[in-house]
Amino acid sequence: MNKVVKFGGSSLASAKQFKKVKDIIMADKSRRYVIPSAPGKRTNKDDKVTDLLYACYDAASEGRSYKKIFDTIVSRYEQIIEGLNLNINLDYEFKTIEENFLAKKGQDYAASRGEYLNGIIMAAYLGYEFIDAADVICFDADGSFLPEKTNQELSNRLAKAPKAVIPGFYGSMPDGSVKTFSRGGSDITGSLVARAVHADLYENWTDVSGFLVADPRIVDDPEPIETITYRELRELSYMGASVLHEEAIFPVRKEGIPINIKNTNRPSDPGTMIVESTLKRPRYTITGIAGKKGFCTINIEKAMMNTEIGFGRKVLDVFEKYGISFEHMPSGIDTMSIFVQQSHFEEHEQSVIAGIHRAVEPDHIELDSDLALIAVVGRGMKSARGTAGRIFSALAHARVNVKMIDQGSSELNIIIGVRNEDFETAVKAVYDIFVTAEI
Ligand code: ASP
Repeated sequence: MNKVVKFGGSSLASAKQFKKVKDIIMADKSRRYVIPSAPGKRTNKDDKVTDLLYACYDAASEGRSYKKIFDTIVSRYEQIIEGLNLNINLDYEFKTIEENFLAKKGQDYAASRGEYLNGIIMAAYLGYEFIDAADVICFDADGSFLPEKTNQELSNRLAKAPKAVIPGFYGSMPDGSVKTFSRGGSDITGSLVARAVHADLYENWTDVSGFLVADPRIVDDPEPIETITYRELRELSYMGASVLHEEAIFPVRKEGIPINIKNTNRPSDPGTMIVESTLKRPRYTITGIAGKKGFCTINIEKAMMNTEIGFGRKVLDVFEKYGISFEHMPSGIDTMSIFVQQSHFEEHEQSVIAGIHRAVEPDHIELDSDLALIAVVGRGMKSARGTAGRIFSALAHARVNVKMIDQGSSELNIIIGVRNEDFETAVKAVYDIFVTAEI
């Protein structure tokens, strides 16, 4: 057995959390590759070290006073080292970091130091080898990530390291300068390492016991999801369920390696297993519900639209020209609606309307704002008759007006458009009809 374990910021926020992490790693010999994030918040009011690093770098590189934040960062690490009774000294590292901040080495370099320093501490604490992610995670000169080169570098390097700590979140470009993934990117590093070593399991340790069927800010004490497929997860995370970085599933998915989301503070909870495919039936007809507010529609009407070949393409060209990506596009015989993110659309509102007029000469264009999209996701829906019926009768009983319905061809999800103000009521109604009623 060979497991890759990634620990998020809250799991590594203090010496106390580091101790829990060591217990977890030592409890299972197959936990051989460890990917740490930077120290996160210890309490709600605390700061994440990554945020402090960004702020400190901005101040230093703009010639403002930065010492106070810098000292706060140094003290966060010193407290961890002292609390663990470690015999290491990071003075040289901090001196180099300060010099590089003043020499304007870049925001990515600055942010990456959170993981880098935590990696050095973790390696010393565990007695594992430290491997700098800058040597094994590769980006192109234009900053785009290079998956195959990285896989090669990582597998070559890790073949020589039976146990190692590789900091998350960053890598380097051909000239050696540091480049980071987007925020939360240590999840991606963990997934890349799991792929490179053909791990049996990628454990992603965080501060919740996996995914929940619905957002706990909307539904009281929602049920956990025991097993979810990559495809289901993709639908849910696109719609806002955010336990794992959206891009983290791709490297392991290539190899069919399962991911287990686990809770550092409750290690015996089973968490959520994310798998390619499974015969395990979900507990309920649906696996999860997620959604987002802040969409609008552009409704286009033109008599005989259905006979006009190329109509859709010409309309979408206009959106492409202004860099607006569309979410859904329900259509009728003489009507077509485009769902887009309201904030993106608002920037170019009048230009897009003018562009559509020029491109297809519609009879009428109408806008509808403040809409929300809800995804009801589940592999169990394919074989269950009446799922859509149950959703819409639940929404009708909750007095929610449905603005749009879209069922993906995979029958894995049903997307519903409602008004922003109906969003929470709609999510609760769908949860109750499938989960509360099926318990
Ligand atoms: N420390 C980085 C962040 O706060 C990356 C990570 O934690 O995954 O976004």
